[in-house]
Amino acid sequence: MKPIVAVVGRPNVGKSTLVNRLAGTQDAIVHESRGVTRDRSYHDADWNGRQFTLVDTGGIEPLKSEDVFSASIRDQALAAAEEADVVLFVVDGSVGVTEEDESVARMLKRVKKPLFLLVNKLDNPDREQERLWEFYSLGLGDPRPISAHHGHGTGDLLDEVVSCL
Ligand code: GDP
Ligand code: MG
Repeated sequence: MKPIVAVVGRPNVGKSTLVNRLAGTQDAIVHESRGVTRDRSYHDADWNGRQFTLVDTGGIEPLKSEDVFSASIRDQALAAAEEADVVLFVVDGSVGVTEEDESVARMLKRVKKPLFLLVNKLDNPDREQERLWEFYSLGLGDPRPISAHHGHGTGDLLDEVVSCL
């Protein structure tokens, strides 16, 4: 079986956009609005001949309340992280740290797997470095700036991810 790289985080941070970028496909569904959730989806990926499976989380069932909402994000993240070899935790650098991020982060601390904290939507990396610092508060090590849209930071990320597989 190929190693598994799980992409987790609250809705709308750009997980599906990142999966499409990393897998070089368009089959992860990108949602324009938040508040939708769906099961995990699996995408074949290859970096320098190293094959792995990317798992996207989040998608179609409408959720009822904020509590159910964050519990569900956390549960999906946990289920995906448990089956993964490497976890990519995505947060939104254009928004900053949210309670949902903190809730997922607390859960991920208990998962003893290699983890990358990815601060997405930093489309202008030279101008937006200061956006990174607040994500140290999640207690998951050094935040890495990326732009799933533009591909900034994703090649270096893949080099490091495959070195963990
Ligand atoms: P998901 O819910 O975490 O899977 O997020 P999606 O991949 O569906 O993206 C949510 C929204 O964020 C979409 O409108 C994307 O186009 C946008 N988005 C994703 N990545 C980036 C990025 O790097 N920069 C910017 N500016 N927007 C992004
Ligand atoms: Mg998605």
